[in-house]
Amino acid sequence: MKQYDYLIVGAGLWGSIFAHEATKRGKKCLVIDRRDHTGGNIFCENVEGINVHKYGAHIFHTNDRDIWDYVNSFVEFNRYTNSPVANFNGELYNLPFNMNTFYQLWKVKTPEEAKEKIKQQVEEAGIKDPQNLEEQAISLVGTDIYHKLIKAYTEKQWGRKATELPAFIIKRLPVRFTFDNNYFNDRYQGIPIGGYNKLTEGLLEGIEVRTGVDFFKERETLTALAETVVYTGPIDEYFGFQFGQLEYRSLRFENQLLDQENYQGNAVVNYTDGETPFTRIIEHKHFEFGTQPKTVITHEFPQEWEKGSEPYYPVNDDKNSAIFSQYKALAEQEPNVIFGGRLAEYRYYDMHQVVGSALKKVKVHFD
Ligand code: FAD
Repeated sequence: MKQYDYLIVGAGLWGSIFAHEATKRGKKCLVIDRRDHTGGNIFCENVEGINVHKYGAHIFHTNDRDIWDYVNSFVEFNRYTNSPVANFNGELYNLPFNMNTFYQLWKVKTPEEAKEKIKQQVEEAGIKDPQNLEEQAISLVGTDIYHKLIKAYTEKQWGRKATELPAFIIKRLPVRFTFDNNYFNDRYQGIPIGGYNKLTEGLLEGIEVRTGVDFFKERETLTALAETVVYTGPIDEYFGFQFGQLEYRSLRFENQLLDQENYQGNAVVNYTDGETPFTRIIEHKHFEFGTQPKTVITHEFPQEWEKGSEPYYPVNDDKNSAIFSQYKALAEQEPNVIFGGRLAEYRYYDMHQVVGSALKKVKVHFD
């Protein structure tokens, strides 16, 4: 008999849900994380009473009632609605593209006028078979929206010219002919009241957690402690990078505490011009309707990922997908190890998808 039924590597959302569900079923769990905190990428740092989203702004949204009820059973969510604003050389536009944006761009007031304007621009561009992201975007929404709101932002995000990016990156562009600035179409969205740490704390309540512990530094000892390992870290690292390193796109965050109450009047402002080096400024207090006397803002700079920097967005191109398939095949053969979460599955997951994925794995494993 080992000391624990499960050793859970990674106290992010995926690992925390698995630990919670296993504990609920009477299993003994040990959760470790190499960071000095739990929560993984949804962790918030408290600065002057403001929850600062340390690893990028996080907005929970889902269409799935069960997933919404599940997260709300640990902490109630507020009514935050994501309505980003774009700043293009000092001009402000509402996002996603909707009647407010079209009015700001062209002073059109009716859906018919807006549709006509877009149709005209798409026709004038005359792109029949889009060969790259630029042509694809113009063929969907015309030149004005593309040049003011898409081009530079996308180029900053990917670190490449839009003409060098494949067309498939933009399959469709949501265009709304109503005055609706709600970025998401999902039925439920919000931020945990009191911050995301409340969600993690709720999930991990009563479970033994050790932070600042790297699985690979004590692999044998830790593995020997439990019947089963649940691994939510990078899959290539687990297998010693034997097929090569999986690539990511990364971000750099610059936080500033400002001695003013309200900096930009919105949680998210995108900078869509080519001169500004960052893509967004996040003002964290607005996620929770904060009234603190100070404010914290974060400038977001996309950057290439190199060893040691945070892996944020998997590059799911052919090369990396082929490498991942090799690791996945090994993972399927690995006895007494369950792999899950964004790093072990090398895929971009929104939080609601992580909840869905972890609960599904729990169901398959226990029921
Ligand atoms: P993680 O949170 O990465 O957790 C994995 C944990 O494993 C980490 O804490 C790590 O330290 C630990 N670990 C790894 N290796 C080891 C090891 N060797 N030993 C010990 N511990 C280890 N989703 C939304 O729904 N809405 C959003 O607005 C949103 N915004 C996002 C913005 C950005 C910039 C990014 C990158 C993602 C965003 N997401 C968003 C997605 C969200 O962050 C993820 O879905 C979620 O955090 C993934 O949880 P996870 O447990 O799979 O991974």
